[in-house]
Amino acid sequence: MKIELRSDTFTLPTPGMREAMFSAPLGDDVFGEDPTVNALEEKMAKLFNKEAALFCVSGTQTNQIAISVHVSKGQEVICDELSHIYLYEGGGIMANAGASVKLLKGDLGRLNVSQIRAAISPDDIHACESRLVSLENTVNKGGGSIYTSEALQEISDFCRSVNIPLHLDGARIFNAMVEMGQTPAQFGAWFDTLSVCLSKGLGAPVGSILLGSKEFIKKARRVRKRLGGGWRQAGLLAAAGIYAVDHQVERLKEDHARAREIAQVCEKLPWVKAILPVSTNIVILELQDGLSSATKVAELKEKGIYCAPFGPSYVRFVTHLGFDDEALQAFSERISE
Ligand SMILES: *Cc1c(COP(=O)(O)O)cnc(C)c1O
Repeated sequence: MKIELRSDTFTLPTPGMREAMFSAPLGDDVFGEDPTVNALEEKMAKLFNKEAALFCVSGTQTNQIAISVHVSKGQEVICDELSHIYLYEGGGIMANAGASVKLLKGDLGRLNVSQIRAAISPDDIHACESRLVSLENTVNKGGGSIYTSEALQEISDFCRSVNIPLHLDGARIFNAMVEMGQTPAQFGAWFDTLSVCLSKGLGAPVGSILLGSKEFIKKARRVRKRLGGGWRQAGLLAAAGIYAVDHQVERLKEDHARAREIAQVCEKLPWVKAILPVSTNIVILELQDGLSSATKVAELKEKGIYCAPFGPSYVRFVTHLGFDDEALQAFSERISE
């Protein structure tokens, strides 16, 4: 048995999801006439209590569209130095929006309100104008860390008071939500715009949703088209997204429980130096001094355990709906061999 823990993007559509895709009514979404895409966008907007939504190819696309709409050439985005928008989106902040970035060092990728307050550029012609604050929840590079509701409330209140939009990279927002005991509508209230992934833990094959005001989404739709992101009978994929939101959210807690078990098993391994705190479905191991992540990943692959190097001395495991109790059992046996 192959044990797939490289990413929660490896999930495959479940039988019920395939059924929903097969029977979805379709049309041309570039003309606004795919009923299933329209249904997904309306459903998500309503769920998060936002005016409008836009179905996109990926989380990178939703984040980059959002940044391009919020921030103009010569202005800046404020984010944590571990942010996906900075590290893993091909330099898109600069390449797509022509914008600069101010990187802050948070706690496992989480910023606090005082840091953000101190980072806003003064109203001075020498400064790069701060035009967006972007947070991630959960934080991928922070080992799936989550914000507290209090922290998000403070940051949201502050950004509103200085009239700077607040964006959420919510690639794993449902993982955060089930642990925080929060609702999508509360997230919709905290953030001006949100990127929500359907294809990670939720298990849809493709797609992310961008949420915001009507005016914002109208501009976002134009940017998506300019980037070649107009997609025709995308309802096949939207149907999978609808199914995922209806059936595959509550089960995320199981992924979190299995991630905690992985951490417990790995704690005892002699080659593991430390483990980042496990809050959701990500486990990041730090290797003992002198060990390389590339070598360790290759060794584990020999045992049928697939994981990802995360920098030269870290290894990442991500649990998801394709990793069940049987796989967990096999993992525990093989990794301790
Ligand atoms: C995976 C991920 C994204 C988007 O990834 P895509 O592969 O472009 O869908 C964005 N932010 C975070 C934190 C992620 O983990």
